Amino acid sequence: MDTLTVEQRSAVMSRVRSKNTRPELIVRSILHRMGFRFRLHRSDLPGRPDIVLPRHGAVVFVHGCFWHGHHCKRGSEPSSNIEFWRDKIDGNRRRDRRSIRRLRRDGWRVVVVWECQTKVKQVLERKLRRIERDAVSRD
Ligand SMILES: [Zn+2]
Repeated sequence: MDTLTVEQRSAVMSRVRSKNTRPELIVRSILHRMGFRFRLHRSDLPGRPDIVLPRHGAVVFVHGCFWHGHHCKRGSEPSSNIEFWRDKIDGNRRRDRRSIRRLRRDGWRVVVVWECQTKVKQVLERKLRRIERDAVSRD
């Protein structure tokens, strides 16, 4: 049951959308440990990727499951204001797809990490290995 008002939910969402979220910090710390060098929030790239690894021609998006409409428990729909949230989330998904398409067209390797995938270190590490140039993409 979604017990938040629209205003409260908006406040939660604006936190979710902001930079340096907890899932993002987890990804950054693992990347760092794996020896990757990266830059943050390059606003000149489509979709403003959270993490950019110029040396590998790769970008990483860390997506909140609710906000970006992941098909998982955390991404499930709220039980109130359904129309309102569905509109917002659909808009975000469209924007995400467009950004990823543009980045790939420009030759970037794009890795999307979902918030729920940051819970299990092994899963996250396996995913982040795809950043490496010779990695096999299985998405
Ligand atoms: Zn998820």
